[in-house]
Amino acid sequence: MKYSLLYYCSIVLCILLVGCQGEERSPIEVRLYNQDLDAVGTANFKEQDDSVAVEIKVEGLAPGFHGIHIHEFAKCEAPDFQSAGNHFNPEGKEHGLMHPDGAHLGDLPNIEVAEDGTADVELEVQGATLMEGDKSLLREDGTSIIIHADADDGISQPAGNAGERIVCGVISIEESADKEKPTDPTESNVDEDEEDDN
Ligand SMILES: [Zn+2]
Repeated sequence: MKYSLLYYCSIVLCILLVGCQGEERSPIEVRLYNQDLDAVGTANFKEQDDSVAVEIKVEGLAPGFHGIHIHEFAKCEAPDFQSAGNHFNPEGKEHGLMHPDGAHLGDLPNIEVAEDGTADVELEVQGATLMEGDKSLLREDGTSIIIHADADDGISQPAGNAGERIVCGVISIEESADKEKPTDPTESNVDEDEEDDN
């Protein structure tokens, strides 16, 4: 009797935990991928007063300064990551932290990659939130974070002349919760069957 009660309590606790995980809006952990879709790091987003803090840990990049931005769509299709769309810009401003009519909400200061190809930096997305609203990085399906091949000059339109998109990560509640789940074999079988029918 004592053991079965414990057993049921564990199940209920599991269900509660899984349920809460799906709704978790802060912190959000984002996996970063390069153009070959190799995992190259993480970006951890955390709600603050009037900003979202993001800690970026990445490896395998060319040393030097790289532009980094929040883009408008939660889609990272390799190799060019054009699927991520433009910079996240809910207020309709010009690009660049140094532009008098800027900046995009998704504009961030360049990150510096060390000689060994790694970076571990903390940035703030000023004015953004992970909660509800137009300025939410998690609005609709979410947004994405992109690292560029070159530095952002802070003023050129539309994206600071930062070159190719070399790293991408999807910022969404779903992606963040999915990481904790094992792959469901039933689900992939269904997908295969559907492909056969087509
Ligand atoms: Zn921009």
